[in-house]
Order: sequence, then structure tokens, then C-alpha cells
Amino acid sequence: MASNQQAEPHIEIGSVMRDTNTGRIGVVQRGPDGLTCLRALSDDDCWEVDANALSSLTSVEMLSARVALTNYESRCRPKAQPAIVRHVRWTLTPDQEPDAEPSTYSMQCVVCSAGSERSEGWQEPQDWALGHSGRNPAHHTFRENITRPWRTFMRT
Ligand SMILES: [Zn+2]
Repeated sequence: MASNQQAEPHIEIGSVMRDTNTGRIGVVQRGPDGLTCLRALSDDDCWEVDANALSSLTSVEMLSARVALTNYESRCRPKAQPAIVRHVRWTLTPDQEPDAEPSTYSMQCVVCSAGSERSEGWQEPQDWALGHSGRNPAHHTFRENITRPWRTFMRT
């Protein structure tokens, strides 16, 4: 059984393994010069390892390592978003430009939720409410809905 040949451990880049020299667990990475490195689960610390000192984790250790790794990556994901190159202040204001959508009005019966057509004037919704009460004498309360256009602009 004596043999000088050491079993080559199965090392897969991206897998989670233990460095038996230090006891630390990390993600296997290919470092510079082709060396094998481990990257810590909860920060960006990397260290070189002796490939022969790597061992697999138990399934329970693997599970908690994966959880730690997922937590770390989700916390750090915003760092991978595009960088902010400048700050601008946005202002919100009612849109009174010539091409703005018109303000519109409508009435809704609070009792049965029936509603008028949306109108650019007051008259039609109000006429509708009066007619609705006439047809439904117990419906006396209405909700007025006003839709106004707004716009934002960048303050330089
Ligand atoms: Zn009604």
C-alpha cells in the first residue's frame, strides 16, 4: 500500500473547501501564477493554499458555507451596480408645459362605486353625479378624482 503518489484532491474552481493548514473555509480560486487560492466567505480576503491541504466539507458545513456566501454576495451586490458619476438634483412640479396631458376630473359614487367618464371639465362629472342620485335615490355621496400631470426636471 505504500506509495509516494499522493491522491490528487478534486479541486474545482468556485467550490467551497477547507484549508486544513489554517482551518479556514473559502471559495477555490485560481490565483496569479496558477496557484490555488481560497477567498473568504464573508469578505474579499484571499490567501494562497497548498492544493494538497484542501479538503472537502461535510454536507452540513457546505450548507452553512453556502448560506454565508449567499448573504455576503447579496449584501455586496450593489457594489457591482454602475458607479454614480455625478449627483443631480431632481425637482418635481405640476406640468404646465404646452404639451402636458390635460387635467381630468371624474366623480365616483361611494355607495356603489359607479363612476363618471373622465372629463377635462367639471361639468360632465357633476352632471353625472346629479343624474346618478336621480336614478339611485339612496346614493348621496361621491368621490371626486382629479388627475393632474406632473413633470420632473434636472436642476443644474
Ligand atoms: Zn351609486
